[in-house]
This record gives sequence, C-alpha cells and structure tokens, in this order.
Amino acid sequence: MSAAGHPRDVVIVGASLAGLRAATTLRAEGFTGNLTLVGAEPHAPYDRPPLSKKFLTAPAPADTGLPVPDGLGARWLLGRAAVRLDPYSRIVTLADGTRLPYDGLLIATGATARSGATAGEPGRGQGVFTLRGRDDATALRAALLPARRLLVVGAGFLGGEVAAAGRALGLHVTLVEAAAVPLERAIGVEAGAFVGMLHREAGIDLRTGTTVAEYRTGPDGTLGAARLAGGRLVAADVAVLALGAAPATGWLAGSGIEAADGVRTDSRLRALFPDGGVVPGVVAAGDAARVPQPLADGAAPALGHWSGAVEQAAAAARTLLLGDAAPPFAEVPSFWSDVHGVRLRSVGLPALADTAKVHECDRAARRLEVSYHREGRLTGALTIGRTSRLAPYRRTLAQYGVGCR
Ligand SMILES: Cc1cc2nc3c(=O)[nH]c(=O)nc-3n(C[C@H](O)[C@H](O)[C@H](O)COP(=O)(O)OP(=O)(O)OC[C@H]3O[C@@H](n4cnc5c(N)ncnc54)[C@H](O)[C@@H]3O)c2cc1C
Repeated sequence: MSAAGHPRDVVIVGASLAGLRAATTLRAEGFTGNLTLVGAEPHAPYDRPPLSKKFLTAPAPADTGLPVPDGLGARWLLGRAAVRLDPYSRIVTLADGTRLPYDGLLIATGATARSGATAGEPGRGQGVFTLRGRDDATALRAALLPARRLLVVGAGFLGGEVAAAGRALGLHVTLVEAAAVPLERAIGVEAGAFVGMLHREAGIDLRTGTTVAEYRTGPDGTLGAARLAGGRLVAADVAVLALGAAPATGWLAGSGIEAADGVRTDSRLRALFPDGGVVPGVVAAGDAARVPQPLADGAAPALGHWSGAVEQAAAAARTLLLGDAAPPFAEVPSFWSDVHGVRLRSVGLPALADTAKVHECDRAARRLEVSYHREGRLTGALTIGRTSRLAPYRRTLAQYGVGCR
C-alpha cells in the first residue's frame, strides 16, 4: 500500500471494455502505482456491440477499437490468458507460467458464447458460428457475404440483431426461438411480440416455440440444413447459435472464490468467498461479475450489458483505491439493441416484473413504450423508437436505488 492507502501493484485480468474503464478510472482518481492489464485476446480493447450490427453489414469491416488514453502508463500483456488465481498469496498465473503478484486485482474477464450440443452439429468453420469477439465477427462476416440462407438459433438481443443483419445483406433468414415470442423472459410477452412483429415485417421467417433437433451436413461436412423439433427442414448455408453467454470465470476454479456462475460480489464490487467473506484486494466488474442490484433487493441477476460493465468497472476501481469509503454501487441497469433500423432501449430490470403496462403501441410508426412493475412498484421500462420517454422512469428507479443503500 502507498501512503495514500492505494495499492502499489494493480493487475486487471480482462483487457477489454470493463478492464480498460477500470484502468482509466484508477489513473483519473490518482493511482500512481504499477498497472498491468492481461488479455486473452491478442487485440487491444475493442467494443463488441457493433459486431452484431454494422460490422456485419458495412462494405468494409469497421475498426471498433476503444480509445486508450495517452499516458495511461500500463503494462499490456495481450494474447496471454490468466489460468489461475491464488488469493492467499495474491498471485495471478498466466498460461505461459508468468506469475503476477498484486495487492489489488480486478477481474474483468467478461463472458463466452454458450454453444449447443445438437445432434449432427458441424464443427466451427463448417457453417456454424457463435459470436462474442472480433475474430468471431470477422469469420461470420466472411461466411455471410457469399451465403444465401441464414439460420439464427435464439431470438434474444444478439440473435435478433444478427438476423436483422442477415436481412440487410439480402439473405433468406430463419430465426428459431424456443419461447412463444422473442425476448419473452427479458422484456415480457407484449414487447417480445412487438419485436417478433418487427422481424416478420422485415421478411424474417420467425419460428417460435421450437428448437433445432438436428443439423444435416453435406458430403464435405459443411452445414446444409437443420431439422426443427416439429419436423420442418430449414435449408441453411450458415447458422449462428445465439444461445446466451456464460461468465468467463473457469480460470478461477480452485481459487476458493465464488465464481461458477460469475464472480459474486458485495455492493462495493468486492469478490466474495462462498461463506460471504470478502476476498482481500479483489474486485470484479462487467459480464464476469454478479453484482447485487438495489432494484432486485440485493439479488445479483446476470445482466451482460455494456453500460453495466462500464459503470461497475469505475465503481470497482474506486473500491480498490478507497475501500469502505467507496460508495456502494447503485447505478440503474440499462441496455440498448438495434434491429431493423429502430432502437430498443430499456432501463431497470423488466425481467423482475409481474405486470407490464403498455403506454403506447404504434405498429405503423414502430413505436412502443412499456413500463414494468412488481407488486405495484416500478422495476423497469422499455421503449422502441421512443428513447426520449425513458428519462422519467430512470429518475424514479434511481431513487429506489438510493433508498436501498
Ligand atoms: C456481439 C455483441 C453485441 C453486443 N451488443 C450490445 C448492445 O447492443 N447493447 C448492450 O448493452 N450490450 C451489448 N453487448 C454486451 C456488451 O458488449 C458486454 O456487456 C461488454 O462487452 C462486457 O464487457 P466486459 O469487459 O465485462 O467483457 P468483455 O467485453 O467480454 O471483455 C472481457 C475480456 O476478457 C478477456 N478474457 C477472458 N478470459 C480471460 C482470461 N482468463 N485471461 C485474460 N483475459 C481474459 C476476453 O478475451 C475479453 O477480451 C454485446 C455483446 C456482444 C458480444
């Protein structure tokens, strides 16, 4: 520890959105010690949201790199994954055997795409893709350009965006979803049905209440078709599995930290042991973390949104510097998604609701406004094509957060 009570050696594992934001916050708030960022990918930090949107449809792949401030004064260890953490000796070990001692550690390893285990599924590179990183997006883009028929499995945010990108490229797109409407668990039946309507209007063949039972490959092993649970055969040159993401916390196995389903943290983003004890000097942020949400009465739902990663990273960095004097995390969750030229935006936690109230539903203008409530209390709101309507909801939700501190 330095005279200011700051750690001297901070290691950030995960050199992308949350990792970079934590690094910039540390420096902005006076951290002068050694700063090391470890990244499994060979790339400098980059933004993921464009990868399921314009990156796939633009005439040339865009550079989605995140700006790294001049003079950050960090040591970058890229293309080198962390494989082990010993929280008692305070050492992170990398795949090449490098040992990094720390007195402050920030875990920001994000998530990995979940993949299926469906009969006959061809290997990666033979027509079936998942999408999490830039290399995935580059490979998918290359496959989509000559393709004619795209199958997207899972009509969540990512699947919906990839399906929309496929339509924008002029492909015949089939979008398969197990639930009755897209996004049902995340935003409810009313808003999910509206999103389904947007997909169908755009010409997507949306198949709900079903799954892929089996893939069929050609003689060369590449994808040819998929058979849905009801027996229907869907021809496809490319399939994208958009089945959600799992926290990239496998490297913490054996550390004793509660991390199987994401690193459990307290309200100051400090990592916890299974008995609820704080892991000394370790904080977590972003998609790798499960952070208690005031709106969920302290429960820690998996969110996986851009703004949460940014806000948690800044808060976690402050905890490393200030300890108990750091404010508890109380930001209102929010996310956006772009499909078929309209923006879907949400604040709060719609998924907690027992009731949804539709305030505006204009199919022709492609506008929707829904508020979500649990036992009469607001839990979230969502708009499509009406972002300006969200501010009052956000203000109300922020007050609940303050009340729970
Ligand atoms: C295609 C796509 C589109 C998205 N679109 C939206 C959107 O429209 N709106 C929205 O709100 N959110 C969106 N998101 C979610 C958003 O991008 C994430 O919430 C955000 O990237 C999380 O940031 P993070 O830093 O926690 O994790 P990540 O961005 O996943 O970064 C984690 C980094 O850690 C590295 N890492 C993993 N394991 C190790 C290890 N053992 N050692 C070292 N490094 C490791 C990874 O390689 C990665 O570079 C999207 C995500 C994707 C994938």
